[in-house]
Amino acid sequence: MSRTPEREGGPVPPPEPLAVAVTDSHCHLDIMGGDPAADVALAQSVGVEKILSVGVDLPSSRWQADLAAAHPDVWAAVAIHPNEAGLGAATDEVLREIEALAARPEVRAVGETGLDHFRTEGEEGHALQEVSFRAHIAIAKATGTALMIHDRDAHEDVLRVLAEEGAPDRVVFHAFSGDGALARRCAEAGYVCSFAGNSTFKNAGALREAAAALPAELLLVETDAPFLTPTPFRGRPNGPHLIPLTMRVLAETRGDDLDTLCARVRANAERMFGTL
Ligand SMILES: [Zn+2]
Repeated sequence: MSRTPEREGGPVPPPEPLAVAVTDSHCHLDIMGGDPAADVALAQSVGVEKILSVGVDLPSSRWQADLAAAHPDVWAAVAIHPNEAGLGAATDEVLREIEALAARPEVRAVGETGLDHFRTEGEEGHALQEVSFRAHIAIAKATGTALMIHDRDAHEDVLRVLAEEGAPDRVVFHAFSGDGALARRCAEAGYVCSFAGNSTFKNAGALREAAAALPAELLLVETDAPFLTPTPFRGRPNGPHLIPLTMRVLAETRGDDLDTLCARVRANAERMFGTL
């Protein structure tokens, strides 16, 4: 992973709480640099009830699963990130370990997996990513777990591989990065789209168009913390407690009542990841 967590200027204080609690469907509690239990408690103080913490390689996947086993309000996702897979990290042996982790009850998604044609360049890396993505789809199906997709500059290839393999019953596009047209294609396939803090950025009209185009039952919200801090705090550290900022923009963009949309997003998260 070559992304640098946003850390300038110190932590952002908690925003006005949500009245109806939601789930942060994707963050990385292991690399936020603080105490995960405190991060979860801070999030819960503003109506972010549950958190899905996501692995990107074998050690971080194990870490998320162990945290989720110990913490009643945390779920885990496990996988080899496409950029790691592009470097050859998703060996058969590693994938067997990911499958064993995915079978644990506190692990509620296989991800983040998928394709990243932005940070991984060249045919060989892309081919390795695709092999790994197919293997993760098989693991999600074998374990009856949701598939959590990282798609960066690879929309057509992600949709193609899903169609070729046959998608699992539950598919989430994390930090959805397409426009309204892609959102409509995802909706036709029954894929759920999860919106992160970048959907609040001034130049993110296409993301907001996508959020407005989706039926409410296919919408999730996430932070991808410590990355993608929402407006107006870009550059400062992100955390699951900043979900209310993104949630308010999503409701406003869609013309939805905030509490109604929160209740829907919460139900969607339970449908995708189960109840605790
Ligand atoms: Zn992530």
